[in-house]
Amino acid sequence: MGREVRRVPLDFDWPQNKVWEGFLSPDRLHEDRCPDCTRGYTAAAEWLQVLASRMDMLGSDVADQKRGRPLHPWLAQDSYPPNDAQYRVVRPSEDILDLLAGLTGEGKGRFLNPLRGGDGYRIARKIVEAAGLDPKTWGVCPACKGHGSIERYEGQRAEAAAWEPSDPPTGDGWQLWETVSEGSPISPVFGSADGLAGWMSDPARGDRWVPGDVARKFVEEGWAPTGVMSAGHGFQSGVEAIGWNDKG
Ligand SMILES: [Zn+2]
Repeated sequence: MGREVRRVPLDFDWPQNKVWEGFLSPDRLHEDRCPDCTRGYTAAAEWLQVLASRMDMLGSDVADQKRGRPLHPWLAQDSYPPNDAQYRVVRPSEDILDLLAGLTGEGKGRFLNPLRGGDGYRIARKIVEAAGLDPKTWGVCPACKGHGSIERYEGQRAEAAAWEPSDPPTGDGWQLWETVSEGSPISPVFGSADGLAGWMSDPARGDRWVPGDVARKFVEEGWAPTGVMSAGHGFQSGVEAIGWNDKG
């Protein structure tokens, strides 16, 4: 829901609206960008992916024709499409499904399902194999070996994989946190649940004001009642009342 109460030490002084450092992997674990690629593939492999996904779209178009939908603009606006005698773009015939089914090892019906994911990756892989190449090595960026980034020091990647976030320290204080980002405090630390609930329902907070009963329930039990009336927002769920300011 975007808000939670944390019990932190009374003297906890992490700045409000700043993500708690323990939730963010430290800079020293961030690798450098690969100078030669963006995603770990060579430019040739990137192009193959583009063309394979266009092939995949031909299969989708058979389904689109059955549903009376127009040709996808990426195909319709191709510079050199197949034409009829009037120079109109002709749409793919159903035998494309035999080809795609054969390349992917799927039944033809799969390509008529509007909810299927794209199969471009598998099509590209099959083309690489048909060329007698190993898809595990062909098309992989040699500079970064397919990672898309480069270790700044040996063992950095393993260190990053082993890194785990750590919670803020716990204590007797009460503090409101947002969980929309990785997590940051959004209230002062109070010495009691009442203190925090009172702060949440202080009318001086303007748009972020929360009805007193909602605030109290939320602070003490970690949940909000299902429906409340609130000034300016009319009837809304208690959950909305707590989280309504998530978008700033
Ligand atoms: Zn690379």
